[in-house]
Amino acid sequence: MLPTLPGPPLDTPTLLFAISMVSFVMAGFTWSLVRAMPEQGRSLRLWALANAAAGVAFGLYFLRGHVAFGISFIGANVAVVAVPALFLRAQCVLYEVPRRAWLEWGTVGAGLLSVLPVLIEPGLGWIGALVISAGVALLALAIVLLMWSHPLARSIGSSRFVGLVSLATCLAMTWRASGTAQRAWEGLPYDIRTRAASHTTSLLMGGLFLIGASVAFMSAVHELRRRAVAERARRDGLTGVLTRAAFHDEAVQAHGSGEALALAMIDIDHFKRVNDGHGHVAGDQAIVHFARLISAQVRSGDLVGRYGGEEFIVLLRSADLEAAERLGQRLVDAARSSPVRLGNGTQLRCTLSVGVADCAPPPGPAEQALEQGIALADAALYLAKARGRDQVQTPALAA
Ligand code: GH3
Ligand code: MG
Ligand code: MG
Repeated sequence: MLPTLPGPPLDTPTLLFAISMVSFVMAGFTWSLVRAMPEQGRSLRLWALANAAAGVAFGLYFLRGHVAFGISFIGANVAVVAVPALFLRAQCVLYEVPRRAWLEWGTVGAGLLSVLPVLIEPGLGWIGALVISAGVALLALAIVLLMWSHPLARSIGSSRFVGLVSLATCLAMTWRASGTAQRAWEGLPYDIRTRAASHTTSLLMGGLFLIGASVAFMSAVHELRRRAVAERARRDGLTGVLTRAAFHDEAVQAHGSGEALALAMIDIDHFKRVNDGHGHVAGDQAIVHFARLISAQVRSGDLVGRYGGEEFIVLLRSADLEAAERLGQRLVDAARSSPVRLGNGTQLRCTLSVGVADCAPPPGPAEQALEQGIALADAALYLAKARGRDQVQTPALAA
């Protein structure tokens, strides 16, 4: 005989009914968020579907004895294993990782096959219960591993919570599988309404998982969306490089790291002529072209910002004035050799002027060091313009 939980007995049918109702409410609520968050719509829909499957599964468990056994047993068990499979898929979509198709279909398929023997011999219900519990445990473990291994998921508290609840579910389901095996070994009939501790605990865990994981999932979706909006606000709408304000913030942070920094101010030469001669759309295309050209020439840790209309600024990390001058020359050369290709096939030849400067290292206020560095690079840029454009200049030569 399997032990029961201490204390007053938990009423299993009531638990089943409550979990079913909560699941349907969660499904409706999750689905209601789809329109407000279209970017996460697919993931939300999958999550809502998982909750609906849980509602069906626990509802059928509850109705066992009141509907045909075949429907209640097969339907409920297949639906219950589909729940974590859909949860896993929703998380894969949310975090943009390849879906674990073999695991999803494998566990659902094995779950379906394992419940069929009951049609021949009702006493074989334990096979389905065992395989389904093991399948749910396996899928819950896959969610744990995903939440634990994905850097983005790890950085979100509520996703770590999903991992924790999934781990508890995995353990409870493993316990339930062993409880089911033990009952079968002892020759006891399989009974969804048993009050065995392993069974009641797995039901409680199932309910807690559905509520806890769903709330945490929606919170993670909101957090991802908040981050995406914040990231978008840091980027210039036309070019995708940093806005002037975001560049400033990141440059101040970089100064705090203590490494040597250098600056480059870049301006497209005679840009007015582009606008006047070819229109503002062509002008925009040229600005995008040069933003890409600059981004391609810098190292991955360097910062590229749009400083003004057709002016860009680069912060070079771990770099001195000579490194900045070399970058400036590379940019000038690259601009000469890569014309702007307009939508109508026209090729525009534009040149760049670049002014470079050092940025004073700490100690000293970062704001001041940056301001001075930018003023020096700007003065060098003016010199480059004054000396005929299409060249790089340093403050040393400007002095
Ligand atoms: P210089 O060689 O001295 O830099 O001459 P310039 O014509 O490039 O310089 P100026 O600063 O006089 O002109 C810059 C022009 O850039 C003026 C403005 O209309 C244009 N501009 C600024 N922002 C944008 C933009 O987002 N799109 C387009 N198409 N034009 C822009
Ligand atoms: Mg210009
Ligand atoms: Mg300008």
